[in-house]
Amino acid sequence: MVSLTFYGGVDEIGGNKVLLEDNDARVFFDFGQSFTMGGDFFTGWLSPRRINGLGDYFEFGLLPKLKGLYAEKQLRFTDVPFVEPSFDAVFLSHPHFDHVNHIQFLDPEIPVYLGEGTKLFLEAMEKTSSFCNYGERRYRTFRTGDKIKVGDLVVEPVHVDHSIPAAYGFLIHTSEGTVVYTGDLRAHGPRRDMTEEFKDKACECEPVAMICEGTRMVEVERRKNYSEQQVRTLSGKVVSSTSKIVFVTRYSRDMDRFRSFYNVAKNNGRKIVISLKTAHLLGRLVEDKHLDLPDPLKDENVRVYYKRKRSGEFKEKDYYNWEREFMDKIVTYEFVRKNQGKLVMDLDFYQFAELIDIKPNSGSQFIHSMSEPYSEEDIEDQVMHNWLDHFKLQFHQLHASGHLNRDQLTGLIDYIKPKRIFPIHTENQQLFKKTSSNVQTIRYGTEYTL
Ligand SMILES: [Zn+2]
Repeated sequence: MVSLTFYGGVDEIGGNKVLLEDNDARVFFDFGQSFTMGGDFFTGWLSPRRINGLGDYFEFGLLPKLKGLYAEKQLRFTDVPFVEPSFDAVFLSHPHFDHVNHIQFLDPEIPVYLGEGTKLFLEAMEKTSSFCNYGERRYRTFRTGDKIKVGDLVVEPVHVDHSIPAAYGFLIHTSEGTVVYTGDLRAHGPRRDMTEEFKDKACECEPVAMICEGTRMVEVERRKNYSEQQVRTLSGKVVSSTSKIVFVTRYSRDMDRFRSFYNVAKNNGRKIVISLKTAHLLGRLVEDKHLDLPDPLKDENVRVYYKRKRSGEFKEKDYYNWEREFMDKIVTYEFVRKNQGKLVMDLDFYQFAELIDIKPNSGSQFIHSMSEPYSEEDIEDQVMHNWLDHFKLQFHQLHASGHLNRDQLTGLIDYIKPKRIFPIHTENQQLFKKTSSNVQTIRYGTEYTL
């Protein structure tokens, strides 16, 4: 008997936790944290206490109380007794927070299967972020097309195009037939060929079920979305038509987007200025030759921005060891101020205070290359615009989504023809029913047998 139980990604975008059981095999696909998790109870400095492990999370039902899943120390102050692990594996589709972040609570004996690139991303996060620690794990890396046997199951990861490298869908060959899990995917990025390959392979399996993401399964799409190629073309126009500095805010781990701006800068005879975190990440990702990214230490088009720290004089000892590595590529606010027209600069919202030192010339350009805000009352969005107004920066919204739109999702389902569809990672499960007849809407914690 094969069954599916959903402990996350139910009626919301992200936080996927899918349990698949087949006879004795019990495997999770993704173990992420919902973007809104705990928002009703925790805010700002009021956050779950680390010392209480999972206790504060269980209080509000934020993670499932399952025996044999979590690390002993996480359960110390809870009413869930620690027992030896009774789950065989966790597979991660890609390194986004909403798919991986809760692996930190898992029993370290449970193997975590992930793409080679995903592991590099997780390690870079742990190195450069103080809040990120996944602990000692039994990681097992895979590549596309591998066939991984877990009990009676065979799991086949197949690469897909998404807004972060190392994204996979899974073909899960069970005793009742193949179950397809899409992970997150799109078909308008530079690697749409990978999504095509996934589609074909999934179709060939004549799947009994498909767990299908539905981020953009919406009645009317209000936000503007381009393809990655359009983002590159339009931002190229912004850069080529100004003699002033161009700032860019983007998702820090979207390497397709980085490559777009890298090329725009290079084609316009400008250097790209990146943060230390991006430099570290690139330094790790060049290990993966498939990704074809510039080496921050060797590439002449890349400069690394050092903020003032401690002494305020850019001395080596002011910085962490991992930060010191890029001192040969250093630029400071003074350099940026003097060379504005020769640069495209990554500038994350949380680093906006650097603008005070850089003093950009009035009429400089700012490209917001992220999703538009979800609500009109978005405070960060208001603050961002206050800063842009203050420094007289011209705003551009240029973004490509990481997800298939509604028509493409319907096309995917029609092509693969699964016997049943389980919508996940969506706020609109019901919309799937408008175009497909065999949709099983999901509820948190309910077990569905195939
Ligand atoms: Zn996601």
